[in-house]
Amino acid sequence: MAFPLSKSKLQSHHQCPKKLWLEINQPNLAPINEVQQLILDRGTAFGDAIRSTFSDGVLIEEKNSQKALIETAKWFNLFASGEPRKPVFEAAFTYKGIIVRVDVLNPLPGGTWELIEVKSGSLKPSHVRDASIQALVIEMSGTFVNLSKISIGIPESTFTFTGSANIAGILNVIDKTLEAKELFTEIESCIESALNTVVLPTVPEVSTGAHCKTPHACGFASHCTNTKLQPGETFIVPVWHLSKDPLTKIVQKFLPKKRDLAAVSKSDLETAIQLQMREVACGKPYYLESALQVFLNEQPFPRYFLDYETNNSPLPLWVGTHPGEVIPFQFSLHVWTAPDAPLQHHEFIATTNVDPRPALAKALVEAINLVGPVFAWNGNSTEGPITEKLCAHYPSAAATLRQIADSCRENDPLRKFRQWMYFPKMAGDWGLKSIAKSILPTNPYFGLAIKNGVDAMKGYEKYLAMLPSSNRDQLEADLKAYCGVDTSVMIDIWKTIQRMHASP
Ligand code: SF4
Repeated sequence: MAFPLSKSKLQSHHQCPKKLWLEINQPNLAPINEVQQLILDRGTAFGDAIRSTFSDGVLIEEKNSQKALIETAKWFNLFASGEPRKPVFEAAFTYKGIIVRVDVLNPLPGGTWELIEVKSGSLKPSHVRDASIQALVIEMSGTFVNLSKISIGIPESTFTFTGSANIAGILNVIDKTLEAKELFTEIESCIESALNTVVLPTVPEVSTGAHCKTPHACGFASHCTNTKLQPGETFIVPVWHLSKDPLTKIVQKFLPKKRDLAAVSKSDLETAIQLQMREVACGKPYYLESALQVFLNEQPFPRYFLDYETNNSPLPLWVGTHPGEVIPFQFSLHVWTAPDAPLQHHEFIATTNVDPRPALAKALVEAINLVGPVFAWNGNSTEGPITEKLCAHYPSAAATLRQIADSCRENDPLRKFRQWMYFPKMAGDWGLKSIAKSILPTNPYFGLAIKNGVDAMKGYEKYLAMLPSSNRDQLEADLKAYCGVDTSVMIDIWKTIQRMHASP
């Protein structure tokens, strides 16, 4: 028997029928998204790890769906015949050709079972729907599993890692039985409609909109919005840049018939960013406000450029830390002391499983004397708040850390650049890498072994688990090289823009 739909495919259909159809028929149109892959990998690792917190559980290891169904039935038949019941992990059930694998089925007194859908992040409405799909399939599957409770298991934020393999208490199980059962009728009709969608000969027509981002950012976004510049095209609205709902709606008004923003009247555009984009659409190679030049020129020296690498694993890496806590484990700091002076560089990386924050905070305050501004890309949302939290871990320097945090927030270059600069090649992406690729003569990330923040998180987890060796040293060098580029590139971009303004 073929199983056309899994739980995640049903969820895709719920978000957008076109998404489900594309996932089945043209999956290659969705580029690999490292962040989503990291989230999936973390979910798998967390789901595997929490099994040790149940005593004497049974894992249905079989990956093949048919064989997993047979193995699951074998266990539940044994339980029905009087064998002592145990927690079952990855049990398989089917209904109308839909297959689900259940993270945990936990025996409850009275012969009933609790379904636990395990998630590695905070509780979301889509998690309840996930659990509801599983429960409905179990109920309709004709097996002897009497569910009396439907729950979501998420990381317990108060759990403190002691360094021991014993992680009892890391799972916070939240009863969502009523909410999950309320969704049964809607899920039944979703199954019918999804089964109809998968057999459609052509892709269903669905316009882009707010649903493309909720509950998950859709991987087909670039396909559906065609945000990539095509040869011969001047400019296409990067709808994802304008993705806050009211703005999206304005742009979407013009998308179906007129993709080219240049054709849109200025009076129909409301925000500064939309107007900037129209300028670009009208043929300008980039949009650069002189206000940006003024801002860049008037910043006092020394100028500090800071970047953290962080980890927020649901399985804490450091003793004394909690699941999902955002912990900085590395920083790079470039200091630009005068227009033509060589750059100074300071860096830190945590090398053991001791909470890195006190040592990192100490190294940071030793490197910054705060006579000049601190610039961190997106520092208003990232470096500022993270530095603020370091005060509790290095109280003797709390005043300095607070000043650094304030400076990161006040001088966040992203805010200025967003307001005053746009290059079509950025296609709506305001990340440093996107800007660097758009305006620098060479790509500073080219040739790095670690190329992005997700690589850095994964690489660091591997690094921490390694014994001292030349491979570990090399990985440390790779991590430092990546973080170092994330700060030096801010200065490269800064200087390049100044030169662009200086050119006639
Ligand atoms: S980008 Fe939007 S319209 Fe396109 S498949 Fe995804 S959710 Fe559907």
